[in-house]
Amino acid sequence: MIRFDNVLKRFGDNVVLDHLDFAIDRGERVTLIGPSGSGKTTILRLLMTLETLNDGVIWVGGQPFSHEQRRGKLVPASEKYLRVARRRIGMVFQHFNLFPNMTVMENLTEAPVHVLGRDKATARDRARELLDLVGLADKENAHPTQLSGGQQQRVAIARALAMDPEILLLDEVTSALDPELVVGVLNVLRDIASNTDITMLIVTHEMQFARDVSDRVMMFDKGRVLEDGPPEQIFTDPAHERTRSFLKAVV
Ligand code: ADP
Repeated sequence: MIRFDNVLKRFGDNVVLDHLDFAIDRGERVTLIGPSGSGKTTILRLLMTLETLNDGVIWVGGQPFSHEQRRGKLVPASEKYLRVARRRIGMVFQHFNLFPNMTVMENLTEAPVHVLGRDKATARDRARELLDLVGLADKENAHPTQLSGGQQQRVAIARALAMDPEILLLDEVTSALDPELVVGVLNVLRDIASNTDITMLIVTHEMQFARDVSDRVMMFDKGRVLEDGPPEQIFTDPAHERTRSFLKAVV
């Protein structure tokens, strides 16, 4: 579903992703862990087309994503190509980024109607299903400011799913929340993980959550994958001292 092929990303002289190679299967739930600055968010931002890479190729669903084919050659993707490619991917950010002047329902139907061209009634039906899934069926007419941070984040999750993405990217989705609101958001994500086959790429400091939902954990250090394995192994018997000391510091 996702393949990074020799991906190099730098900001000035700072090499942030160092010839990175990895692949994620369709339906896999993968958590990226590692110290601050190790490149985790940059991976998500590349998949959101918020950054461009300096070398290598990213593939999504077997098709080039960072690049496009022209006359049999891979060339950097045009803005037009990216506009379509990025529809395959939904993202939920740390700060919910809901449209503040729209109701919950409008937040959920805006892109399906205006980007995917769905008719309003279909988009509203789907939005209601998703609000039910995130436990907010009674909030469709509320404005974001009338909701708690945890509720806003659950709306943001529903909004990402409303585009029927093949991949869901979750970037520290609970770190801006008060502790008592974290559980509700994580439970919604656990439900989505058990009831859908969406591919998930997760950056989180919630190690218990990572353990519960992930099929795989990738430990990053300095823009490289230091180790990669099932959560039981990475969390209980890491191969590297660096992983051990990182986990000791965060758990
Ligand atoms: P992580 O998510 O693992 O904390 P990031 O991917 O956010 O790591 O950052 C990796 C490195 O890239 C850091 O050294 C950070 O300072 C640098 N970086 C990220 N974004 C930018 C940017 N827009 N401009 C310059 N440097 C950046």
